Amino acid sequence: MASTPSPHIPSSILIIGGGVFGLSTAWALCRRPEYKNSSITVIDRLSFPATDGSSIDSSRIIRADYSAAVYSKLAVKALERWRTDFAPEHYHQSGLCVTAAGPEQKYVTDSLANVQAIGVDKIEVLGSSEDIKRACGLEAASPNGGGNVGYVNWSSGWANAEGGMRWLREKVEKLNRVKFVVGKVKKLQIHHQTNTVSGAILEDSSEIHADLTILAAGAWSASLIDLRGICKSTGQALFYMPISPSEEAKLSKNPTILNLSNGLFMIPPAKGLLKIARHGDGYINPTTIPHPESTDPNETITVSLPYTHVNDPNLSVPIEAHRECRDFLSSIHPSLAVPSRPFTHSKICWYTDTRNGDFLITYHPKYKGLFVATGGSGHGYKFLPVIGDSILECIMGRTPEDFKDRWKWPEERVPEELWKGDGSRGGPVGMVLEEELRKSGKARL
Ligand SMILES: Cc1cc2nc3c(=O)[nH]c(=O)nc-3n(C[C@H](O)[C@H](O)[C@H](O)COP(=O)(O)OP(=O)(O)OC[C@H]3O[C@@H](n4cnc5c(N)ncnc54)[C@H](O)[C@@H]3O)c2cc1C
Repeated sequence: MASTPSPHIPSSILIIGGGVFGLSTAWALCRRPEYKNSSITVIDRLSFPATDGSSIDSSRIIRADYSAAVYSKLAVKALERWRTDFAPEHYHQSGLCVTAAGPEQKYVTDSLANVQAIGVDKIEVLGSSEDIKRACGLEAASPNGGGNVGYVNWSSGWANAEGGMRWLREKVEKLNRVKFVVGKVKKLQIHHQTNTVSGAILEDSSEIHADLTILAAGAWSASLIDLRGICKSTGQALFYMPISPSEEAKLSKNPTILNLSNGLFMIPPAKGLLKIARHGDGYINPTTIPHPESTDPNETITVSLPYTHVNDPNLSVPIEAHRECRDFLSSIHPSLAVPSRPFTHSKICWYTDTRNGDFLITYHPKYKGLFVATGGSGHGYKFLPVIGDSILECIMGRTPEDFKDRWKWPEERVPEELWKGDGSRGGPVGMVLEEELRKSGKARL
C-alpha cells in the first residue's frame, strides 16, 4: 500500500526531470495558490531541451484513440487545450488512422468503440487495404503497410513535441517561480532509519534538500529507485528522411498512419523531414548499477536503462529496425523508398513501460517525502497540457477516481517477461540492444 500523502504543503519541492511529467507538474504547482510559498526546483541532467529525453522530438501523436476509455476521456481534455490555448501553433489536426493487418487486433475495435462512445463524429471506418490507401493518401495498399482494417479519427492529430515543450518551458520561466538547475542526480537522499527522502545528491557531490522530492526522470527513473518488476525502459527506433516542399505539402494533409500489427507508423512531415518509427516492445538494455536504495555500496541490481546518442554520438539504430521501417515505407509510399532516398538520421528514444501501459503517479510506498511521476509507456506526451494538474491532484491525496487503481504503486512486482502491456504494441519481442547492435556489425561502447 502506498503511504498516505503528507497533509501539509511542503515548503520546498524538488522535481527530478524536466520532461513532460516534470515540467507540467512544475507548471501546475506554480498555478495553485496553496503552493505560493513553496520553493520549486526542477533539475535535469541536460540543459533544456534534453535531446535524448522522450519528450523532445519532431512529432508526437495526439489522440483520444485508446482501448481504455479512461485515457480517451483524459486525452479529450488535453486535445481541447491543444486546439485552443495550449501551444495551438504546434498542434496539427490532420487525423490518425489506426489500423491492423487483420480483425484480430482488438485494440483497434476497442479504441473505435471508445471514441464513438465519446461522441467523436469525425470517424471513418475502413474495411479494406484499399479503403485505408484512399483515406490516408497512400501510394499502395497492403496489410503489412497500411493494414487491412481500421478507422480514421479526423479529430486526432500530432504535435511538434519539442515545440510544445519549448512553449510550456517559456510559460513556466515567465512565472519566475521555478528554479531550473542543470545537474545529474546521482542518488536520492535516503534516510534509512526514518525511511524518508529529503532531496538529492548530485554527481558533483552537492546536495539539494527538499521536503518533497518528485521523481520524474522518465526512462532513467529506474537508476534512482528500485523499479524492478514495475517499470522497464525500452528503446524504440525512429528514422527521418528529408523530403521536398512539394512532397511535404502533399503528405502533410494526410493522417498519421499507425499499423498496430507491426507497430510501424508514419507521421505527416514537417520542416522538410518525414518520420517513420515503431511503437513496439523495443530493446532492453540490461545495465548493472549500484542498488539505488541500498546502504551497502557493493550491492548491485541489473535493470534496463537508456543508452542514447548522449552516451555514444555514433550510436545507430539496429539494422532490423532499419529494414522494417524501410519495408513499411516501401509498402505505403514506394516512390519514397528508393535507394537514392536514404533515411539520413535515426535515433533510439526510450519508453518507460509499465506492465499494462498505465502511468505510475503515486507516493512511494516506503519513503516519506518521495513522490513518483513516471511510466509514460509510450503515450504520455499528448497529456502535456493536463497531466501536471492530475499529478498535483495525486500529490494532494485526490487521485482522480478513474485512475486510482491504474496509477498506484503496484501491490507486487511482476517479472517483466510476464507483462501483458496495453495491447497496442506490434513487431518483434524480446530484443536486447547490445545483441541487435552486434548483429548489425556495431558494438556498444
Ligand atoms: C519514440 C517515442 C515515441 C513516442 N510517441 C508518442 C506519441 O506519439 N504520443 C504520445 O502521447 N506519447 C508518445 N511518447 C511518449 C511520451 O513522449 C512520453 O511518455 C513522455 O515524453 C515522457 O515524459 P517524461 O517526463 O516521463 O520523460 P522524459 O521526457 O524522458 O524526461 C525525463 C527527464 O529526466 C532527466 N533525467 C534523467 N535522469 C536524470 C538524473 N539522474 N538527474 C537529472 N535529470 C535526469 C532526463 O534528462 C529527461 O529530460 C513517445 C515516446 C517515445 C520515446
